[in-house]
Amino acid sequence: MSECKHTGFYSNAHCSGCGEWAPTIIAELQAVVDAAKGLVALLEGTEETDDGREFHPVTISSCRVHKTALIAEYLKAIKEVK
Ligand SMILES: [Zn+2]
Repeated sequence: MSECKHTGFYSNAHCSGCGEWAPTIIAELQAVVDAAKGLVALLEGTEETDDGREFHPVTISSCRVHKTALIAEYLKAIKEVK
């Protein structure tokens, strides 16, 4: 743990004393994580048709195969964030 009491000014998002991230940057990162997690929850949400079939009403797709793979990769990365 650091002894820094943050007497150093924040420059480029870091405390010049200990290198800790600035609270504003932490808040921005948290907002991005929350939005990304919300997007995953939307994509994983299911509904049921009248005849009882489950489906995903929200999807992201691409007609380009490698971009579909990228979408899966990004979603996996988001889900790995605690
Ligand atoms: Zn500091």
